[in-house]
Amino acid sequence: MFTLAAGIWSAWGAAGGAAILLAGVSGALVFLRRTRQRRQTRETCPKCLAVGTLSAVMDGASPGLRVIHCRNFLTEVAGDAGEECGFEFLEHYRNLPKLSFTTLGAPGSGKTFWALQLYSHLIQGRYPGNVTFTRIEGPGAERFDQMVDFALNNRIAPSATQVSALPDPIVFAFQNHNRAARLRQCLVNLFDFPGEVTVRHTHSSTLRRRQLQADGYVFFLDPTLPAQLQGDALAKFVENVAALRQIPVGRQLDVPLAICLTKLDLLAAPHRGSSDGWVDRFYDRLRTIDPSGESLAPEVIDRRSELIREILPRLFPGWDMLRQAEGFFGPRWKLFPLTPVGLNDATSANAGSLVERMIEPYGICEPLLWMLDQNGAAVLPQGPTFRG
Ligand SMILES: [Zn+2]
Repeated sequence: MFTLAAGIWSAWGAAGGAAILLAGVSGALVFLRRTRQRRQTRETCPKCLAVGTLSAVMDGASPGLRVIHCRNFLTEVAGDAGEECGFEFLEHYRNLPKLSFTTLGAPGSGKTFWALQLYSHLIQGRYPGNVTFTRIEGPGAERFDQMVDFALNNRIAPSATQVSALPDPIVFAFQNHNRAARLRQCLVNLFDFPGEVTVRHTHSSTLRRRQLQADGYVFFLDPTLPAQLQGDALAKFVENVAALRQIPVGRQLDVPLAICLTKLDLLAAPHRGSSDGWVDRFYDRLRTIDPSGESLAPEVIDRRSELIREILPRLFPGWDMLRQAEGFFGPRWKLFPLTPVGLNDATSANAGSLVERMIEPYGICEPLLWMLDQNGAAVLPQGPTFRG
């Protein structure tokens, strides 16, 4: 009897010891993984994604502040000479997780105008009250300050984005007031890539690689541009992402894709001749679903997405553009209606010009907030409590 009890006790002890050992080993593995992730975050340049090329320097303009400078040399951009990445940001932000979001779409599809409207909204605080975006100074912010002044104050449309160099991102420190969210704070880096990178470059080019190495994509469909050009670009994008990230056939990508149907205000022009009035019905339904274009309620986002899906065959007859994206992104893609100018004057003769237009943008922040939500920020269920 005594021997049996001792044996059971001994077995319990061994099992308990093994469990403690297992818990200790798994705890150590988690600790090591987090330490490695923190080091990776700290050492990775948000612009060029090089690791180990960052060094701290004193900020000449602000004595006492330390700035992180990237010394990576980019040999495949800026012509034959190449150039140093040179990205700089305050050391204060070095340990924050850094998310990259990139624009894609054919040349002239409205990427830059959306990006500058988004920038303008964020610096004015026109976003939900449960988050905060703080602008980080840098060359991207300087360029966008200038473009906002040109486009929104002086009504001069932005010029085409340079193709020769890696674009400087506009950077915001994101703070999430939802304590239950997995992502509480991060640096948001938004890259406005030129349209040529979407339609001409392959996944082996430096610019294209950086465009595809993102935590979310904003792909622009322009109803005024040819369907084949854009359908091919979307198909090539899916192929290139799969190749670059080495995603096996049949597997889905764990990164969100916001497909934006832009220039909504110009829908009427090329389809004015249609006799059944579908364009007017579309505007009416869109205004019914979301009059302000600022709702973040998940059901509103879903209904707007479905509405866009319904009209795509009318806009791009014969092109099932979404088939490849659907299979590759699974549930992590949505269609967003967008106009950085507004739905007003939709049928007027000067609808294509910024001059004399009353600029009332529609649906500007939703793609970014949805992508942040998809990355763990949990901002959507908090509701559409917009400021500004
Ligand atoms: Zn860099």
